[in-house]
Amino acid sequence: MKLPLPKIRELIEAIKALIKGPYTSKFPKEPHVAHRNFRGQPKYNAEKCVGCLACEMVCPVGAIAHRDDIVQNGMSKRTMIHYTDTCIFCGECEANCIADREGIKLSNDWELSFFDRKQAFETIEKELQLCEVCGGIVACKDHLKWVSEKIGELTYSSPTLYLSRLRELGVVDENLVAPFKDCGRSDRVKILCAQCRRQTTMTAQ
Ligand code: SF4
Ligand code: SF4
Repeated sequence: MKLPLPKIRELIEAIKALIKGPYTSKFPKEPHVAHRNFRGQPKYNAEKCVGCLACEMVCPVGAIAHRDDIVQNGMSKRTMIHYTDTCIFCGECEANCIADREGIKLSNDWELSFFDRKQAFETIEKELQLCEVCGGIVACKDHLKWVSEKIGELTYSSPTLYLSRLRELGVVDENLVAPFKDCGRSDRVKILCAQCRRQTTMTAQ
């Protein structure tokens, strides 16, 4: 019986493999470097992320969550959590990131093995701005800064935005206390959540 001759393409591949070596990597003996276009797990960039939660809203599998820790008269923070065992690497978080798609980005990190599933997450922290009347959450400080930069001089139409900026620049004292407590009118020039802004605007005399 006559053996079938190898196809030309297979012959070329065999010659290439003889010259270049095998296509497969020697992992785990040698570290494996993924292809530059490999879609690996997303990574947060704590410098660029503004803590807006858009990525959490668009994630189709709930691989992103957040936790807010409120400390009155201390540093309140938002923790962004990415669950690496739930992520499907779809890239929706990166595509919808308001920080020019830099707050979270797909990486070529493919190594996802772990012994304890409870440890399969990564986090970053962002400082929160609290309402100076009710103590509720306004937004992350970096998010307020991001809005100010987007709208430019219109920032001066919102005391919350311009006071945030002035405090960041050190122009306004953090501990400045309004001289008339519960007057209402003086509360207007404070960093406020949407509800308190509405109340001081609609009801203060
Ligand atoms: S890549 Fe997709 S699944 Fe993973 S965190 Fe981003 S949006 Fe969620
Ligand atoms: S800035 Fe980007 S990465 Fe950060 S919370 Fe918003 S959407 Fe997510």
